[in-house]
Amino acid sequence: MRRFFIMPLNVVIAWGALVTFMMAQAPAQMAPAAEPPADLEVSLLDDLVAANRVLAAKGVLDALGHVSVRDSHNPNRYWMSRSLAPALVTPSDIMEFDLDSNPLDRKGRALYVERFIHGEIYKARPDVNAIVHSHSPTVIPFSVTKVPLQPVLHNASFLSFGAPVFDTRTIAADSDLLIRSPALGAALAKTLGSTAAVVLLRGHGDAVVASSLPDAVFRAYYTEINAREQEQAIALGGKDVVYITPGEAATREKEGHQSFARSWELWKREVMAK
Ligand SMILES: [Zn+2]
Repeated sequence: MRRFFIMPLNVVIAWGALVTFMMAQAPAQMAPAAEPPADLEVSLLDDLVAANRVLAAKGVLDALGHVSVRDSHNPNRYWMSRSLAPALVTPSDIMEFDLDSNPLDRKGRALYVERFIHGEIYKARPDVNAIVHSHSPTVIPFSVTKVPLQPVLHNASFLSFGAPVFDTRTIAADSDLLIRSPALGAALAKTLGSTAAVVLLRGHGDAVVASSLPDAVFRAYYTEINAREQEQAIALGGKDVVYITPGEAATREKEGHQSFARSWELWKREVMAK
């Protein structure tokens, strides 16, 4: 009798574990089947997925923020994920947008409300082929004080091109600080100007631009690192901080510019191996 009782109990426990497992799997199984975009080059698609995951792994992007890349054949289009935490982005989440940030084939998917950052900067800056918008935590103090973000680190020499601060109050009072409209995106792009690689968003984060996706990832990461190190340098040395000079920055950007390639090779492998 005792043996008869124990066996069914084991079966019940096993069944419960199986049901729990299946419920955990259910969201993935129930998600609508979506194909990766056929028009996007495989390498660019892989890089865009990797860029999302690298920046999430490095703490530049959290559950929010986004990365885009301009279409390599049509400069009036760009690619970006549907609204999703960057660490979760897969090839089937990538969508195509025009420069007014309208999706070409929405399929009912949710969109990033701040996509206008991307479309409006691509319009204003033909030299830009990739953009990262993040809430990079250590840049915030530089967006709410008069201390300019400047390069203290050779890998952040691009900050020598300027890191202006955009304030949404120039367009809209009492907003939620998000870049929710083409007008706000265009005003942000205007503040970025024709040469800067970084624009800070007051009390919000930054937008980092580059001519390639690996370089945009590199710059977004080293913008965060430089902000951290600049704060440490100011805490130690006050006004006596020695910054990278404009001449050094120009040389570095010209001659050491390809250093992002080795970082990209490592970072991409780290996140895609998981
Ligand atoms: Zn944002």
